[in-house]
Amino acid sequence: MYTLASRSQRERTSPVMVSGVTFGQGDFKMIAGPCAIESQVQIQKTAARVVACGGHMLRGGAYKPRTSPYAFQGLGDVGVTLISSASEEHWLPCVVEVLREQQLPFASKYIDMIQIGARNMQNFGLLKAAAATGKPILLKRAASATLDELLYAAEYILLQGNESVVLCERGVRGFDRETRNLFDLAGALRLKELTHLPVIADPSHATGRASLVEPLVLACAAAGLDGAIIEVHPDPEAALCDAEQALDFDAFSRLMERLALLRA
Ligand code: PEP
Ligand code: MN
Repeated sequence: MYTLASRSQRERTSPVMVSGVTFGQGDFKMIAGPCAIESQVQIQKTAARVVACGGHMLRGGAYKPRTSPYAFQGLGDVGVTLISSASEEHWLPCVVEVLREQQLPFASKYIDMIQIGARNMQNFGLLKAAAATGKPILLKRAASATLDELLYAAEYILLQGNESVVLCERGVRGFDRETRNLFDLAGALRLKELTHLPVIADPSHATGRASLVEPLVLACAAAGLDGAIIEVHPDPEAALCDAEQALDFDAFSRLMERLALLRA
């Protein structure tokens, strides 16, 4: 049994603090930014817009887990320093995915939250090493993981004494190719029943379509999840990674306005 992650441990959702931003307090936190950090200008512009629209955290990939080895692999350590500067300048904590243990010492010096991506959810060595940094961790559900597999992965982190874990539903592998993955909203809600850890959603990777991001963010907020992480890019058509699912700045502003209305 995943004893530490279980809801039976705690009646209320455990707040997870990330450099001043708290997940799991009954409100809805928005993390936004590009799939991949591409340049200083790109990440700075995005950070400025995310803050201006009321976003809470900045995302950006530096070490990218790409399906094809020929695809853009990210800027690596340089990307980490670029997002870290943007993050500091705009007072916006950042989350960056880490793929290997060896990247942790460098990355954890600069970033506020470590993302363990879908492909590494059961990389137990990485989970333990990430937990040992003491940094808050965003743990994404693997594309074919059951909810209890996700909770056991979280348990690895909790067992190291690191209680700052936020879970993320990002879509599971479905049979239909019209959406990139199958967004499991019911699964995310069931997670809220099973665990006291905050649960957020990633409608960008779940759908692969910019047009579906706003309605799903609104649905997640209405359903009572703890937040969302989405991809936003100053010029989606020119994005080096996941161009089809990135919101441009206008679409992001609209989303944030509608989210505020919904919450009001
Ligand atoms: C990402 O968030 O950049 C990412 C690669 O997501 P996932 O691990 O959910 O595929
Ligand atoms: Mn992406």
